Amino acid sequence: MKKFIMALDQGTTSCRSILFDHSGQIVSVAQQEFPQIYPQPGWVEHDPMEIWNTQLFVALESIRKAGAVASEIAAIGITNQRETTVVWDKETGLPVANAIVWQCRRTAERIDALKDQDDHLADYIHQTTGLIPDAYFSASKIEWILDYADGAREKAEAGKLLFGTIDTWLIWNLTKGRVHATDRSNASRTMLYDIEKDRWDPKLLEVFRIPESMLPDVKPSGARYGVTDAGLFEEEIPICSAVGDQQSALFGHCCFTAGDVKNTYGTGCFMLMHTGEKKTLSEKGLLTTIAATTDDTILYALEGSVFAAGAAIQWLQNGLRLFDDAKVTEEMAFSVKDTDGVYVVPAFTGLGAPHWDPYARGTVVGITRGCTREHLVRATLESIAYQTKDILDVMLQESGAMLEGLLVDGGVTKNRFLMQFQADIMGVPVISPDNAEATAQGAAYLAGLTVGFWKDHKELKSLQGDRLRYDPQMDPATKMKLLHDWDRALERAKGWIEQ
Ligand code: ADP
Repeated sequence: MKKFIMALDQGTTSCRSILFDHSGQIVSVAQQEFPQIYPQPGWVEHDPMEIWNTQLFVALESIRKAGAVASEIAAIGITNQRETTVVWDKETGLPVANAIVWQCRRTAERIDALKDQDDHLADYIHQTTGLIPDAYFSASKIEWILDYADGAREKAEAGKLLFGTIDTWLIWNLTKGRVHATDRSNASRTMLYDIEKDRWDPKLLEVFRIPESMLPDVKPSGARYGVTDAGLFEEEIPICSAVGDQQSALFGHCCFTAGDVKNTYGTGCFMLMHTGEKKTLSEKGLLTTIAATTDDTILYALEGSVFAAGAAIQWLQNGLRLFDDAKVTEEMAFSVKDTDGVYVVPAFTGLGAPHWDPYARGTVVGITRGCTREHLVRATLESIAYQTKDILDVMLQESGAMLEGLLVDGGVTKNRFLMQFQADIMGVPVISPDNAEATAQGAAYLAGLTVGFWKDHKELKSLQGDRLRYDPQMDPATKMKLLHDWDRALERAKGWIEQ
């Protein structure tokens, strides 16, 4: 009797494994952090073996905690930190270098040089991959490993090395080297995948000097990838989904059709809008990416991110030492009637979409003698809502969609002050599921659909539990005034660093 779906959630700082039952409820969770490696300023690496060992450990742990046995697990679903790049030896299974993490900036100069060499490259990359050329994506990270890991380029040319994002690395290890595959949502973040022609792009492989023999097969997010090697669990378990974390959260919120939007509020915010079969290319710096499916239809999403959301709360806590626990920010914000005219623009590393100003820096304006800790906390929380609204406005404008409600998840959504303010400032309801596990849920849903554990999208929607709903309440005049002053505050933050 198959009772569970196991979701492996491989994140940037920890590996988690969650068992879901037929009613979509969480039965057990196991989680373990693993080390971040910072060889130089701006560089971030992970040890791929450590990721694999930690992920296997938590998988076994989640089965043990549920009092389950492997034969009760219908399928495994995988969701992962995107773009992070692993290159390994096909024969030995050993990585030729540490994984280069999505945050790592080591190839930023290489990207600049490529853009300088070819004026059309940025446009070609945008048209083909839906992305904006950046060191963030896998392409230049693979090139770096081939150039700098000992003997890697010769081996790669001889067909002896494999590339994968973390989903691919886990599938390869779970199947003991029998399956080398990824899904379209992850492929669409490598900056090597043509998201319309649905194939690796020959010209970009040439630009980044990557042999095609290294690349994984590309499948739908929900598909039969293979079965786990006999030695790992008491019984073989089919692996039935792989999906990048943000596309997984979109699916986990049951955003299946054009116009559905979710925003994940963590250290930063990631907003994705489903655009259905329409590949919408943004003029204002949003990314176009492939959404999860269980068949070969290609569906798209628009994506925008706020660089500093939870990071701004962490700054108040650890930098300014205004409190010891982020939880208290809710009460502090509610304790004052407004920010007393104070605006915080947390542009610590510049401003992202739709402002795109790398020279902007964090700014606090409007301070008078009456400004207190509480005002500063409230203004920081409000800044998260303003930044989210700025992205959402562009998405709605460029997609032509109408929004009925914003689905939210992530640690920061525990803050009821912020969620209410978000609804007020956008003028649409904010809807928060009572379990904030949208990311793991997406991978579980996709795997469950693939093996018939759940029947269809309608059944998945019926599994969604209670939701907290925040309806807009602010009067239009107040909202207009706040937004007007936010725009003025943004202007003061822009261009601070002299070029
Ligand atoms: P990530 O996945 O990026 O690590 P999480 O989804 O775990 O992020 O959220 C963690 C962030 O949420 C931290 O930045 C923390 O400061 C913030 N946070 C947690 N609880 C609250 C709260 N009640 N109010 C505001 N921020 C919060």
